[in-house]
Amino acid sequence: MPIDSFRPQSWNAIDDIVIVGGGLAGLFCALKLSPRPVTILAAAPIGQGASSAWAQGGIAAAMSAGDTFDKHVADTIEAGAGIVDEKMARFMVSEGPARIHDLLEYGVPFDRDLEGKLLLSREAAHSERRIVRVRGDMAGKAIMEALIAAVRKTPSIRVLEGYVVEELVREGRFVSGVIARPDAGQSKNRVHFPARAVVLCSGGVGHLYAVTTNPWEACGQGVGMAARAGAIIADPEFVQFHPTAIDIGRDPAPLATEALRGDGAQLVNSAGRRFMLDIHPDGELAPRDIVSRGVFAEVQAGRGAFLDCTKAVGKHFPEMFPTVYASCMAAGIDPVTQPIPVVPAVHYHMGGVLTDAEGRTSVDGLWAAGEVTSTGVHGANRLASNSLLEAVVFAARIAENIKGMLPEPKTGDWGKKAGESDDLVTVEDSPALTALRKLMSAQVGVIRDRNGLKEAIRAIATLERENSRMRFHNIVTTAKLIAVGAYLREESRGGHFRADFPDQRKEWKHRTYMTLADADQVVAELAETAAA
Ligand SMILES: Cc1cc2nc3c(=O)[nH]c(=O)nc-3n(C[C@H](O)[C@H](O)[C@H](O)COP(=O)(O)OP(=O)(O)OC[C@H]3O[C@@H](n4cnc5c(N)ncnc54)[C@H](O)[C@@H]3O)c2cc1C
Repeated sequence: MPIDSFRPQSWNAIDDIVIVGGGLAGLFCALKLSPRPVTILAAAPIGQGASSAWAQGGIAAAMSAGDTFDKHVADTIEAGAGIVDEKMARFMVSEGPARIHDLLEYGVPFDRDLEGKLLLSREAAHSERRIVRVRGDMAGKAIMEALIAAVRKTPSIRVLEGYVVEELVREGRFVSGVIARPDAGQSKNRVHFPARAVVLCSGGVGHLYAVTTNPWEACGQGVGMAARAGAIIADPEFVQFHPTAIDIGRDPAPLATEALRGDGAQLVNSAGRRFMLDIHPDGELAPRDIVSRGVFAEVQAGRGAFLDCTKAVGKHFPEMFPTVYASCMAAGIDPVTQPIPVVPAVHYHMGGVLTDAEGRTSVDGLWAAGEVTSTGVHGANRLASNSLLEAVVFAARIAENIKGMLPEPKTGDWGKKAGESDDLVTVEDSPALTALRKLMSAQVGVIRDRNGLKEAIRAIATLERENSRMRFHNIVTTAKLIAVGAYLREESRGGHFRADFPDQRKEWKHRTYMTLADADQVVAELAETAAA
């Protein structure tokens, strides 16, 4: 899709709401804000470069006859390992059915039974059938296609694709706009977009790690940008690894959806041993973090890990899981007859920019929705299919909240920052990012410990000092927040596992709140101890 032709300077005159990111959270928020003027700035063409389009399972919503909001909240709290914000989880769950109806109105073709009722399926750790899906594993693609069509038909929404936002502009206490670089971030020009309100919907952090299921654009720029503008970041240490990314050397790694294990697929090592039964009574359906560590241990021990779907799914594979089937076949693996090699991969970030029930961050003028946030609904571990739900519920709440606010548009000189490098090598393929991703996987990954985290924090500080590009600074800032959060939390809980503190500790049964200044304080202390 070509980048819209427009003259950025002319936007100084427009009272605009700027949404950073064109995934589910961004598009849904824009549609809900209509007919107010909205500009969506997206790093990639919408529909690409967004995890939303890759979602395979679906959206969780308590809509079946036997289900209740209380049950969905209870499952969410159970998955979150003791630190879910119950009030926020209740908002999310109770508004789920209404948001599903919105999506139906925007044209999302959710699966229905012969009577025309929504078909609801079950996923691990859900006590009821409550996942709304589209044609097996096509939920994300179908949802995004419908929303993109709705957005393109909405005259109040302008979509500017290939604009990589690098900085939130602050005027006193307020965020009053953003600075973006066009041409997929390759232009030498930095363009200022003044805004009445900025909504950050920039997705996750997967590409801070060497192995991830996320698209390239999910490299934590949003969290870094918000932290640099003074926003409080919550729970950065909680990163969810998906236990069964397909290990065929692709980056990002394609996903073998949880639903395969839900349908009875088994995890075996190269000797054919079903290793998860040794680790947890629920075997393959144990919580994601436990299955991830089980798979990681087999891979580390050189025995490999494989998802055997040959009996449970067999010849139905192509029609039941077309996306997974295509990924496997492209790599020469026929999942109908062969086990699929798997590896844990960074999949979802529970932490992020702290927001309240209306999606407001701690910085005036800045809202945030979707994976970039930490609303508190996921606690230390996300319940499968709750993230798309969180994105639409809080995006809609933000739209309601924003209506009526009126900061003045501002103009100014938004050129290169003093000391910033002009080097426009894409951040994505820079040696610094490659080094950072390796470091994060090795020392801030599935299994962490104090010494590894200390080393990682010092190495991250060095990378930050040696690289002056704004986008890299956003990325490395997020890595720093995750590593410092992981270093400080001396326990294991949900997605965060410390080999030196393998159990939960009651003094840590709370969320983490951190500013960039707090993280930098820890970095400085570690630098002093290293020098001493
Ligand atoms: C393979 C896979 C399968 C999944 N399956 C499910 C599932 O079944 N159910 C579920 O609930 N969740 C699932 N998830 C998680 C879920 O898809 C995400 O949490 C959710 O889609 C996030 O939506 P979002 O709008 O916040 O971010 P995204 O959809 O990732 O969109 C982020 C947007 O921000 C843009 N962007 C990023 N940085 C910048 C920048 N600096 N400037 C401008 N634009 C920027 C991106 O290009 C993109 O447009 C899955 C995730 C993956 C990767």
